[in-house]
This record gives sequence, C-alpha cells and structure tokens, in this order.
Amino acid sequence: MVELKTDTAIDAMYETGQVVGRGLTAVRAAADVGVSLRELDEVAHEVLRAAGATSPFLGYRPSFAPTPFPAVLCLSVNDAIVHGIPDDYRLRGDLVSADFGAELGGWAGDSAMSFVVGEPRPADVRLVETAERALAAGIAAAVVGNRIGDIAHAIGEVCRTAGYGIPDGFGGHGIGRRMHEDPPVPNEGRPGRGMPLRHGLVLAIEPMLIGSGKDGYHEAPDGWTLRTNDGSRAAHAEHTVAITESGPRILTARQEAHTSRA
Ligand code: MG
Ligand code: MG
Repeated sequence: MVELKTDTAIDAMYETGQVVGRGLTAVRAAADVGVSLRELDEVAHEVLRAAGATSPFLGYRPSFAPTPFPAVLCLSVNDAIVHGIPDDYRLRGDLVSADFGAELGGWAGDSAMSFVVGEPRPADVRLVETAERALAAGIAAAVVGNRIGDIAHAIGEVCRTAGYGIPDGFGGHGIGRRMHEDPPVPNEGRPGRGMPLRHGLVLAIEPMLIGSGKDGYHEAPDGWTLRTNDGSRAAHAEHTVAITESGPRILTARQEAHTSRA
C-alpha cells in the first residue's frame, strides 16, 4: 500500500533527512587512507546520538538476511555494490559506497554516496560521477504527472549510455514511517509505465552502477554484501525525495562540509 504524506509529515521527514545528510558528510570527511570501516560506522553512530535519532539499519533483518544488520552504516568497498558490513578493513586506494539511514520523530530517511579514498583512478571517478548524474536524472523525473517508469527510465538511460551495468532486483523504494515502503522504484524501466506520481509521495531513489557494464552480481558469504560477479567496481547514490506540486524536494540534501578536504 502506498501512503501519501501530508506537508507537515514531509517537513518532519526533512528534519530526519538532515540528520542523514550530516552523517554522510561526517563519514566522507573522516574517510581517509588508514581509517577502518568500523571507525566510520562509529562516526555515523555519533551523529545519530547527537541528534537523538535512531538507526533503521542496526538490527534490520529482511527476509533474505541470515543475521540482523550489525551497524548503522553500510560500507561497500570496490566490487561490493551495496549492503557491505563495516569491519576492521583499513582504507587505502578504494572506491567506497556509504549508505546511511536515520529515524527521528517517527520518520525515516535514507541516503547514499560513493567516493574515492587515496589516489583517485579515473575509471572510479567517472563511475562515481555517473552515479550522481543518474540520481539527478531520476530526481528530475520525480514530478507530478510522471510515473514510476519515468524515474526508472531516466536512471537507466544515464547508466547504460555511459556503458555501465545495473544489478537487477535492487533499487529504490517508498519511505515514510518505515525505511522500506511501497512502491518499488527500479533503476531501469519503460517511460509512461507504473504508478502515477502524486503530491505527497516520498521515494528513496538509488541508482547502483557496475563498472564493467555487466549486470551480474552475487551475495557474499556474510549473507548481506552484494558483489559484482566479475570483480569490477560499483557505485551507489541515493536521496530521499518528496514529490510535490512545486517539484521534487530532496529531503536528504547535504550541506557543504566545512573541512579542507576536496
Ligand atoms: Mg540506503
Ligand atoms: Mg534505500
């Protein structure tokens, strides 16, 4: 069932979304060569504590998962696409996808970004930039009068035109009181198809790209991490977006980090 949110609820979801944005900004600022994934999870956890927010990730156990998720942050490194578990791995020259969520005042927020740590490889930079461009195209299509298929098509076009693969079966979703609500928002599809977009629909839009151009992926032995089949690197970008009569409103928009890092 799809729940349309009131304007008051969307304002409340924006407050949650800002906590998510702050967490990702803090994680990005802290990510450096020699820093462990577990330390980045602690950075994100501290942002939740400071805001009085809780984590929809910690203890989350969907039907496919063998164990509850043990962290507040998903960190998917290099050939990991999504759902990576923060561990003691220390970053070096890596492509990191960070996916973070919060719950505050009864509302959830969900957002992700990819970035390069260490000496950037041009192929990684292009992949990350294309993920952001695919997300922007999906958001631009999230307008009243369009349909879910228009978002999916916009995302898929950017990814495929750039020569990247798309892992079928994972994508965006409705979001509200719970992190995952209806409707699903695929990362590839036909324009003009699917549910009409209406004022008050709130979606997490989240392209996932595979660098080799192939679509194959598999679940790692931990039962959570999705990895590319050919070992090529992947990128992920996500925002929680409210569809309104005055256009898409990005609830997890990030403020610029006040740090010296590029
Ligand atoms: Mg997410
Ligand atoms: Mg999501």
